[in-house]
Amino acid sequence: MDYDVVVVGGSFAGLSAALQLARARRPVLLIDAGQPRNRFAEASHGFLGQDGASPAAIMRDGLRQLSAYPTVDFVHGKATQATAEGQGFKIVFEGTCEALTRRLILATGVTDELPLRSMISRWGVSVLHCPYCHGYEVRDRPIAVIANQPMAAHQGILLPDWGPTTYFTQGLFEPTAEETAHLTARGVRIERTPVVELLGEGQTTRALKLADGREVEAQAVFTAPKTRVTSALAEQLGCAFVDGVTGPHIQVDPMQQTTVTNVFAAGDAAQPMHNATLSSTAGVLAGIAAHRSLIMEAVS
Ligand SMILES: Cc1cc2nc3c(=O)[nH]c(=O)nc-3n(C[C@H](O)[C@H](O)[C@H](O)COP(=O)(O)OP(=O)(O)OC[C@H]3O[C@@H](n4cnc5c(N)ncnc54)[C@H](O)[C@@H]3O)c2cc1C
Repeated sequence: MDYDVVVVGGSFAGLSAALQLARARRPVLLIDAGQPRNRFAEASHGFLGQDGASPAAIMRDGLRQLSAYPTVDFVHGKATQATAEGQGFKIVFEGTCEALTRRLILATGVTDELPLRSMISRWGVSVLHCPYCHGYEVRDRPIAVIANQPMAAHQGILLPDWGPTTYFTQGLFEPTAEETAHLTARGVRIERTPVVELLGEGQTTRALKLADGREVEAQAVFTAPKTRVTSALAEQLGCAFVDGVTGPHIQVDPMQQTTVTNVFAAGDAAQPMHNATLSSTAGVLAGIAAHRSLIMEAVS
């Protein structure tokens, strides 16, 4: 085998996994296409010791520290194929390059599908997914929650801690009686006419245009995009998926083992709650679990 472990995806989850393995002195290949999910945001928040740092700076530091370990190889590129091969796996990357590995960690993240076109250029700036990540920066401004999935009312119930909130059902996600009571108790206004467009200069939002022509003031828009796991590697290997709130994710056990023996998965691609710290934690677990499985195999 070329490597003990190949890690696909080199962001919060993948770098954290590779770091554990590097420190255990194992030959590791990290393959990363360089498109972390939060790359649209100027700053990342809530990650201990890095609050307010730019996503690019966090990744740069992580990679620099990992590169100091002599057993780590790094490829900037895309892994396109994974197949079972002998006792391990063959990974194809950058078109024609191949690596053989005894263990595989998938940390490829997810890709967001935003519900409105006018959200795309504003994503990560005035269109946001997580109040804990960016709510503080838009505090006290008029906030809109645009429903895009059945749990959206919960986001509406949370957001008044950051600013005056309007919940837009989009005519699709009517809150239950219990949710309506919570929204009302929290002072949230409920609007049933769909938002058709965001208005404002550049990446800012000033107001929302509704289907009936009205404009409603909003300077920050929260929505939960639909997500899909970035990369088909887990499907190619036959890993099982489970439905999360925003889309399917790879099924893992508490030590990040997928349903395919010796394939581990971590980060947004393998959890329903999406957050940098949680992804990093899952990466650490996956790295340790892969390392332990190599040891257990050797002594059994
Ligand atoms: C706009 C925005 C802002 C956010 N802000 C915050 C915040 O402030 N705080 C916070 O805690 N969370 C934040 N998040 C959530 C956070 O970005 C994610 O939880 C975190 O990035 C997930 O880490 P990950 O390692 O699982 O995946 P990602 O960070 O998405 O990284 C996956 C990596 O794998 C690579 N990859 C994918 N497929 C392949 C392949 N086939 N071959 C090689 N490489 C591949 C990608 O290019 C990417 O580099 C934000 C999310 C968004 C959308």
